[in-house]
Amino acid sequence: MNMIITTELIKEIRQQGIIATLRKAGRKFDCVECPKPIEAGTYYYQIYHTGSGVDAHPQRVHGDEIGKFFAEHDENGCRQVFPLR
Ligand SMILES: [Zn+2]
Repeated sequence: MNMIITTELIKEIRQQGIIATLRKAGRKFDCVECPKPIEAGTYYYQIYHTGSGVDAHPQRVHGDEIGKFFAEHDENGCRQVFPLR
């Protein structure tokens, strides 16, 4: 069986009331999905909930954790699963 595995990250994902934009970290950030920091120079997703205001603070996750982030939020962008820290 052949499987196509892509490591390419999608630039923008709009789903479940969430807009996730791929960005390159200019400095170190905290990740909301895991205890490890998002290191400067690496790619991460900046996440806004569509219901939030323009001055809302974004959430950030490592690039490879965006699937996990969506899996843990419902269609309104509310977290359903709380990660253990
Ligand atoms: Zn992470």
